Amino acid sequence: MKKLFILTLTLLSLSATAQKKPALVVGIVVDQMRYEYLYKYFDRYSDKGFKRLMREGINCTDNHYNYAPTVTAAGHASIYTGSVPAIHGIVENDWIDVASGKKVYCVDDSTVITVGSNSKAGLMSPRNLFTSTITDQLKMAQNYRSKTIAISLKDRGSIIPGGHTADASYWYDSADGFWISSTFYMKELPTWVQKFNQEGRPQKYLNQGWNTLYPISTYTRSAEDNSPYEGKIGNEKTPTFPHELKGDNMLEVFRKTPYGNNLIKDFALKALEEEKLGKNGTTDFLALSFSSTDYVGHAFGPQSIEVEDTYLRLDQDIAEILTYLDTKIGKNQYLVFLTADHAVADNHDYVKSKRMPGGSFNTEKAVNEAKAALIKEFGDINLIVGVENNQIYLNHANLDKFQISKAAVGKILEKTYKNQPGFAEFVNMREVNSSPLPTIYREILTNGYNQARSGDFMYLLRPQWVSGYKTGASHSTVYAYDTHVPLLFFGWNLKPREISQRTNISDISSTLANWLKISEPTGSVGKVIQ
Ligand code: ZN
Ligand code: ZN
Repeated sequence: MKKLFILTLTLLSLSATAQKKPALVVGIVVDQMRYEYLYKYFDRYSDKGFKRLMREGINCTDNHYNYAPTVTAAGHASIYTGSVPAIHGIVENDWIDVASGKKVYCVDDSTVITVGSNSKAGLMSPRNLFTSTITDQLKMAQNYRSKTIAISLKDRGSIIPGGHTADASYWYDSADGFWISSTFYMKELPTWVQKFNQEGRPQKYLNQGWNTLYPISTYTRSAEDNSPYEGKIGNEKTPTFPHELKGDNMLEVFRKTPYGNNLIKDFALKALEEEKLGKNGTTDFLALSFSSTDYVGHAFGPQSIEVEDTYLRLDQDIAEILTYLDTKIGKNQYLVFLTADHAVADNHDYVKSKRMPGGSFNTEKAVNEAKAALIKEFGDINLIVGVENNQIYLNHANLDKFQISKAAVGKILEKTYKNQPGFAEFVNMREVNSSPLPTIYREILTNGYNQARSGDFMYLLRPQWVSGYKTGASHSTVYAYDTHVPLLFFGWNLKPREISQRTNISDISSTLANWLKISEPTGSVGKVIQ
């Protein structure tokens, strides 16, 4: 009898193990986070935020993007589809549709309208995404009974992670400082969202101004506050603390303050509560993307006290979310991953001031000289439709009409671009493998090339050569400073571990699918992280 009892118990616990799934998956994307920031500010973080994820979870220390351009829309798409732009189609934030020659924004959708405000900021949906996401697969696997909610200040940071089947993707509309959505998802905002919007939190945050969290003398990991490498926000005269946060259009400037991330955290906690995420008897998914790190990073650059302060505050937001999940859902009942949609370069003038190589590439001058050379060779024919992110889109209609070969145009372009300071290599995107680039960069370019949406040619710049961004910093290149991002998994009985073998961003969704015992997204190219 006793034996039978033990056997029954064993069987019960076995089947419980086989079927047990987390009540909730929380995906956290930090917009523009370098892997290095985990360590640069380590002893400034609390014990309950980044450090807790690092100490109690799995830390993949060599996690990279394996395509370029490394930008927000492509990053979020690759995290959530386990794929690359060649397959999922989100090659950029904006691209030129090769067939029509028209410029497209990644989540534009003129067939839907804004829900939650009167602005046009909600004419958006995931329809340009060619594949499914891990959030779609999780929902399908549970016969659409689970919930998916996605939140980000950026439309693309919310819409793409939510996938095609999200219950709601919410993003920030700076017209009123409201969270909005689109008719792709719903007819009207849930009451709790409407109420949240009426609280006017963005303005309340702005009224506080922005001073450092700790005495400014303790920010020894960052360069001096008053520096020519930093931009200004609002109507301030110097890029220094305390930032007054006064001026025109402050609900837009709001994004460039750590309060943007605070707002995301506030709204996420409200969503957890109101939507009863993790309490629906299924595995729900909350996809968060913290956008203000990117806006602050672009404005002030990685060397700034502003970026350090923004990370110290984000650490507190993450700690608050984890503590909430422990209390309301229970330790080990939820699974978290944290990564970034790209990292970032340094300010080129700042690195030059330290005798490091880098510079400013003059995109406009390069295009004008290229166009002039083409006119000289072929006559006054419009042969370039546009240049987006170092990719040159040719006018194929005119090439056909005037019987000009793409190769002949490429030759002229390469010659003119070679003369530009900072130029590194010129690549025919359909023949990347015959370029003299190292294998790793050929793979990166191949993974980033989609024939319907990418340009004909691409010019690569030398490391730390940036176009625009006299102040602050930018990203999008093939180089490690843009591709190396954190990857942390935490919770749901994961054992602490550090994995230093190279992992790719596309491995995240494959790994989640493997753990959750569901199919990987439709364009998946990732491997399960062992
Ligand atoms: Zn981004
Ligand atoms: Zn950015």
